Amino acid sequence: MTSFVYTSHPVRVVFGSGTVQTIPEEVERLGLSRVLIVTTRSQAATSAAVAAALGPRLAGIFPGAVMHTPVAVTETAMAIVAEKRVDGVLAIGGGSTVGLGKAIAVRTDLPQIVVPTTYAGSEMSPILGETKDGQKVTQSSEKIRPEVVVYDVDLTLALPPALSGTSGINALAHAVEALYARDRNPIVDLMALEAIGALVKALPRIVRDPQDREARAAALYGAWLCGVCLGSVGTALHHKLCHTLGGSFDLPHAETHTAVLPHALAYNAPAVPDVMARLAAVLSTDDPARALYDLAGAVGAKRALRDLGMPEAGIDVATERALANPYFNPRPLDRDAIRALLTRAYAGEPPLRERP
Ligand code: NAD
Repeated sequence: MTSFVYTSHPVRVVFGSGTVQTIPEEVERLGLSRVLIVTTRSQAATSAAVAAALGPRLAGIFPGAVMHTPVAVTETAMAIVAEKRVDGVLAIGGGSTVGLGKAIAVRTDLPQIVVPTTYAGSEMSPILGETKDGQKVTQSSEKIRPEVVVYDVDLTLALPPALSGTSGINALAHAVEALYARDRNPIVDLMALEAIGALVKALPRIVRDPQDREARAAALYGAWLCGVCLGSVGTALHHKLCHTLGGSFDLPHAETHTAVLPHALAYNAPAVPDVMARLAAVLSTDDPARALYDLAGAVGAKRALRDLGMPEAGIDVATERALANPYFNPRPLDRDAIRALLTRAYAGEPPLRERP
């Protein structure tokens, strides 16, 4: 075994069914007395129930979280934080809501409790992406990583099947790239493989029956582990491409990950034969990239970037942007091969099969 560095991160995780009921205890454990709930309008009912349970420890509810964490929205929330002398943030929602909680925490160092309702995994990472004047700026800090995460399977039952499928594949992308990250290590490898195994079985079941609690629990468990992967080691070409595409063409987050992942993995396959062998075993296939493409089809996802709103001219734009300031990647970046990868993803074709 080669040498490695592994850092564990002290996040308290409460997992199960009905776990939102433990939130008052978690608030008390942290010694909070003026909690601000952040959420989206569509999740106002869930938040209202939690708010009622908090009683006098509730400072207010801010239901204004939106995609891409715009600084203007954060500033509105910050005014409430100051006015109500908030001493802790409780985020209830998907990656967009978690982003707002993190944006408040990085400005204030307030403790965060997060109740994730999608599979995006942001709650386990120290990363925050914010937008101002159309530009997305990403930063990483331990102030951003939440203190407590409460996973409640019940809250995921309402996640629409289509978003469940793409959000789950967004999570898978964190685990897949963790396996070939520059700072990969055997502990994170274990979590990544466990997560991939759980999610690939659960997602088609959820799309067939969104109320399948066993599959929902397995998917949320897998998503948690994928989030740990994202919060523990670096990412590579796949995440670079998705950030570039999302930022350049305002494409939907989880859907873009779903369309790109099979192609990014196929691109890297020749450089990481050991990873491909492990993925082949966990996916029970001899072609892991194709298996991820088929999974996207099985959950009814759009597999063509053009169907997500990307213009054809975007292939060249995204190729150049991906090559500028590239992330680490196990296979060196080759302009023609990246362009070919994006051309296939644009058209929704199956990934190229390149043998290790
Ligand atoms: P989202 O948070 O934007 O949610 C999508 C929609 O689904 C919203 O309207 C939301 O209200 C609704 N929703 C969420 N959970 C629901 C549920 N259980 N039932 C019914 N409706 C529900 O989507 P997302 O994909 O979770 O998050 C995407 C954002 O998260 C992007 O901005 C992305 O950049 C960010 N993200 C950040 C990180 C990180 O580590 N910083 C990681 C992953 C994603």
